[in-house]
Amino acid sequence: MARTLDEVHRDVRQAVTGRAGTLWEVALRLHADPEYAFAEHRAAALLTGELERAGFAVERQIAGMPTAFAARSGRGRPAVALLLEYDALPGLGHACGHNLIAAAGLGAALALHDVLDGTAGCVTAVGTPAEEGGGGKAVEVEAGVFDDVDAALMFHPGVHDWRWAPLTAQAQYTVAFHGRAAHPTGNPTEGVDALASLIELFNVVAVLGRRLPEASHVQGIVTHGGTATNIVPEYAEGRFGLRAATTAALEELAGRLREAAEGVARATGTRTEVEQATVRYDHFRDSAVLSGRFAGHLSRSGLTLTEPAPGVYLGSSDIGNVSTRVPAIHPFVAIMGENGSDHTPAFAAAAASGRAREVLIAAAQALACTAADVLLRPGLREQAWAGHRAAGAAGG
Ligand SMILES: [Zn+2]
Ligand SMILES: [Zn+2]
Repeated sequence: MARTLDEVHRDVRQAVTGRAGTLWEVALRLHADPEYAFAEHRAAALLTGELERAGFAVERQIAGMPTAFAARSGRGRPAVALLLEYDALPGLGHACGHNLIAAAGLGAALALHDVLDGTAGCVTAVGTPAEEGGGGKAVEVEAGVFDDVDAALMFHPGVHDWRWAPLTAQAQYTVAFHGRAAHPTGNPTEGVDALASLIELFNVVAVLGRRLPEASHVQGIVTHGGTATNIVPEYAEGRFGLRAATTAALEELAGRLREAAEGVARATGTRTEVEQATVRYDHFRDSAVLSGRFAGHLSRSGLTLTEPAPGVYLGSSDIGNVSTRVPAIHPFVAIMGENGSDHTPAFAAAAASGRAREVLIAAAQALACTAADVLLRPGLREQAWAGHRAAGAAGG
């Protein structure tokens, strides 16, 4: 006899509880052995090993990345993707708690497989490398990994209990100036100082910065400023990190940077080249209907999620790119107090604490229940897609 949705929720929660010891062990093994962007080989092997042993069909090295993978239970539509991050931070280890993201996604996927056995559609555990630099999810979006998916679900440990993550769009640009070398005193009128142009660009950017919209920001560094003090620099190069509340605002900001560089080049008699240097992270679009379901399920474990504080932006992530394609959630669940911060040694310690274990199990259960909702309730899928299309149409 077919189970009711409530019974499925009960059963996946029990399945996560039954695997709690294994999931915590996976989280601790990842934590003790941090690996970095695109080189998370042992993490990918550990996670795909668990999934394969449970009966998932595992595809390794997807989207041209050696440490990315997709592990499927069932096929076709409806389809849910659980996103597993597992990269760490050089010098700090798992100071962003991605060991917990991986173990929670794993736990949810295994529980859904235990209970539904691929009969309700497709459950895919997607291994997403290099969130901290490189943007594995952005590469996967481009490769079509999320083309046949109805929802992409993950959680992120943090210092807040927030239903969704205010994440800005972000990209880096290199700006090069070409001048002409000369001896600074021997034949100074021959020299065209490329470094002086770059310094001028910093001045212009500082002026622009005073009237940028909320959340728009430019941070520049000099990456090449000449070779010797007895040569007028013929080449100078800077790198500029741009952020904005939306992808559209980011593109506008990049246009401003380009105009400023070209204006400086015209004024100083140099030539400039402006190039995008990194994968662009889009801003995050929360699927309110799905993050609401997640929050509801999480409250069964005594954890309450609220709206983020207004006007607060917490950086950028490649989940933004996924959220432009499919309904997506990225709630924060606190593993330490609000006066703490991720990307610190204290946060790395918190990612292996007793509180982290409780959050891991609660998040895995809530992810599994939310995924079951997506698979078993066509009306919810339609609502999620309608919300997704409305956000896209509004450019928001
Ligand atoms: Zn991080
Ligand atoms: Zn992170």
